[in-house]
Amino acid sequence: MASSFATDRNLKRPGEVHVIVGPMFAGKTTALLRRVKSELNLDRNVVIIKSSKDARYAIDSVVTHDGTKFPCWALPDLSSFKQKFGANAYDRLDVIGIDEAQFFDDLHEFCCEAADLDGKILVVAGLDGDYMRRTFGSVLDVIPLADTVTKLTARCELCGKRAFFTLRKTNEMQTELIGGADVYMPVCRQHYVNGQAAMEVARNVVEAQKIPNDLTVEAAAALV
Ligand SMILES: [Zn+2]
Repeated sequence: MASSFATDRNLKRPGEVHVIVGPMFAGKTTALLRRVKSELNLDRNVVIIKSSKDARYAIDSVVTHDGTKFPCWALPDLSSFKQKFGANAYDRLDVIGIDEAQFFDDLHEFCCEAADLDGKILVVAGLDGDYMRRTFGSVLDVIPLADTVTKLTARCELCGKRAFFTLRKTNEMQTELIGGADVYMPVCRQHYVNGQAAMEVARNVVEAQKIPNDLTVEAAAALV
């Protein structure tokens, strides 16, 4: 028994994992920044990592839809972070914020190691589902690791009710189409279902007539 107590004393303090999900425009980045700022106020060492795939705004900062900026590291994956950040600097870190977490394939592995072994507090923000409401990347895989899970909602762009889903306004079919309000809108369940049906009609029209995409979107918008 004595030896196990001795081992316990050698362990670092336990880490934490907090997951923030929701559709686009739900304030996930804002919630992440609020959490990280509150940790900064407690004199904790904090860093934010975001995917280098998302170059909509500045590469070296996280910018919320309302324009608030926070410096960060833009990386293609999480496994390279410790080495790029420096082992000593990493050891001194208390809190790691991860934004747009759906773009990191190694999210689960990174969270396990950082929280379980290295004692870091992780705040992970990302989309739980894509525009087809399929699970997006590895975000849902870290829920079993989490201390807390928060699902935020947006406002439906069409009726103002609570929005749980992201509707793609264009005919592009790939899962990772990075864009803002020009490509996506938050919608309630009813308008998600109506919108998907309208987009389906529009896609069929494109197939049949090969008309330009921008006309199709207008046609789809008229059908919503
Ligand atoms: Zn609605």
